[in-house]
Amino acid sequence: MPSNYNRNMDVTDFVLECRHCANKAPTEILVQKSLVEQYEDDQDPRFPLQWDVGFIYQVLRCYSCKNVTVYELAVHTGLDPEYIDRSNDKILYPCGPESPGALPGPIQAAWDAAMRVRKIDPNAFSVLLGRVLDVICVHENSKGDSLYKRIEHLAAERIFPEHLTKAAHGLRKLRNFGAHGDLGHLDEADAPLLQSLCAALLMHLYTVPALAKDAEERLEKLK
Ligand SMILES: [Zn+2]
Repeated sequence: MPSNYNRNMDVTDFVLECRHCANKAPTEILVQKSLVEQYEDDQDPRFPLQWDVGFIYQVLRCYSCKNVTVYELAVHTGLDPEYIDRSNDKILYPCGPESPGALPGPIQAAWDAAMRVRKIDPNAFSVLLGRVLDVICVHENSKGDSLYKRIEHLAAERIFPEHLTKAAHGLRKLRNFGAHGDLGHLDEADAPLLQSLCAALLMHLYTVPALAKDAEERLEKLK
């Protein structure tokens, strides 16, 4: 284990983006257990080699929202002696928001942006999911001077079947409530519905066709 790891036992020396509240900051370490093991290669006694490999498990608590995260630190001092590479670390809890697969880049970016505010504010969440809908319309070359008309255009082009057109309008209307305080406001209990509506549209447009293609390719190889 890197020697400096015990010095600041109570605070991480890295910035964590909290999945509960999206705050980005060093985080309090409540508990930590190292399962890192030392390996040696002394085949050549003039140059004995030694390195540490394994994981350190931490229970962390966000200073902002006080919620707990379980974090897995990956250690490999042979590859990363200074231990500055965080790319192999994992947040084990809470689970990340599931994203529908095979989304085009700009749509994935819009979805990810929405997911970051999901737990913070359902009204902001609805507005950003509305942006996903906007980006879908751009990506599908939909025409019209309002979101209503652009959804109707996709329906007329049969890009959205009837039930998904209703889902898209449902999301659009909820977005309007979220965006305009004078109409009313959404609360936490509305977030799962908003997310499911948007995910249903994305699955239909991008995930299911990609899965069907995967299945075809797999079947082709089995022939
Ligand atoms: Zn937090």
